[in-house]
Amino acid sequence: MIKTIYGTKDILPDAVSNWNYIENLVRSQMQLFNYREIRTPVFEETVLFKRGIGESTDIVSKEMYTFADRSETSITLKPEMTACVVRSVLEHSLDKISPLNKFFYISPMFRQERPQAGRLRQFHQFGAEAIGVSSPLLDAEMIILAYSILKKIGLKNLVVKINSLGIPSTRENYKNLLREFLKDKISKLSEESQKRFKTNILRIFDSKDERDQNIIQNAPLLLEHLDNDSLEKFEVVKKILLDNSVPFEIDSKLVRGLDYYTETTFEIISKSVGSQSALCGGGRYDLLAEQIGDRKIPGVGFAAGIERILLACENEKIELTKNPSADLYIVRIDQNLMSKVYSIAVSLREQGLLVELDYAARSVKSQMREANKLGADFVLFVGGDEYKRGELLLKKMTDGSQQILNINSLNEIIKIIKG
Ligand code: AMP
Repeated sequence: MIKTIYGTKDILPDAVSNWNYIENLVRSQMQLFNYREIRTPVFEETVLFKRGIGESTDIVSKEMYTFADRSETSITLKPEMTACVVRSVLEHSLDKISPLNKFFYISPMFRQERPQAGRLRQFHQFGAEAIGVSSPLLDAEMIILAYSILKKIGLKNLVVKINSLGIPSTRENYKNLLREFLKDKISKLSEESQKRFKTNILRIFDSKDERDQNIIQNAPLLLEHLDNDSLEKFEVVKKILLDNSVPFEIDSKLVRGLDYYTETTFEIISKSVGSQSALCGGGRYDLLAEQIGDRKIPGVGFAAGIERILLACENEKIELTKNPSADLYIVRIDQNLMSKVYSIAVSLREQGLLVELDYAARSVKSQMREANKLGADFVLFVGGDEYKRGELLLKKMTDGSQQILNINSLNEIIKIIKG
């Protein structure tokens, strides 16, 4: 039997209504904040992510789906969207048309990670990017926007964590301090962190290994070594969040996996989800455009994982949608009336009713069972003595009441069903 590839999932019809619900909510909320939808290709030149995300990150060094196509171009299925959106702004010179471009997206992403609950190889993110203006007002807007969507979904156990990574020069100075602090403790670090000491020292903070945690808890903190400008911006972000009732925690160890972040970074965690608790992450990336293009354009954004949000909803017992029930099921009593039943269904569907019928010449009993399964509000019986008299029997399923209608009065049926 051929099955889905490890780490990928079918989204079956019963689940799709929840996906549509979230996607619709995202679209309407993004619109209120004046973010416009952008769609970019599923694959890009590999170099975009290598330069944009950074060679030393987990994504680029071990998770990307990269392959040579038939013309030997190295292409990669997108593991995240920010680099793609910035590429698009640069390519179409959108920054020259408008000083600030506020975009959002909903898209599948691909990373070859070890699958577990809330972690897949094809997963889906929605996110926003505000590109063109470097202002903490936008950093705060991102957090407020992401938080508002998660709140509107109905999630309760949310924690917003914020941090500032400073600008590159202060970060470099800080990395030296950290190197100095860790230098005589390297052998006590986990193997992964020993590697990170050389390639991406800040990421040691991401380690869940107890040995690393014990050592790192006494390390100097980046937040305590920021320059005044970064500190002031961080204060503005905090004040806006306070003024607008977004509860937050400062997490000076929040470094995030991607190289391109500068200054504000944030995550929104759900306490309802197990180990993969980050529903959303983002931050400012003022250096990214220059890394992949020919000019400097500041930006800030976030990405949220839809699978994880659905998992959190499930754990918090939030019922997002109900699958639609049928307005009407047409039961065919006489087998030779198929074309009549079919035409009634076509006419009523044209009038906007959700109508189902039997396609398999089943017994009346089976057809009734099907009507119940579909939660049909009404059942129309076609055949028997009524039909011989030129009539149809309409039954309301909630209270069992019945009405006899003229065979040609479909408008009457529509009126009754639409209430
Ligand atoms: P990132 O792009 O790594 O900052 O991730 C942003 C959000 O995307 C995370 O908070 C998750 O909700 C989601 N996410 C990231 N990687 C995965 C994955 N492999 N499977 C499912 N969701 C993911």
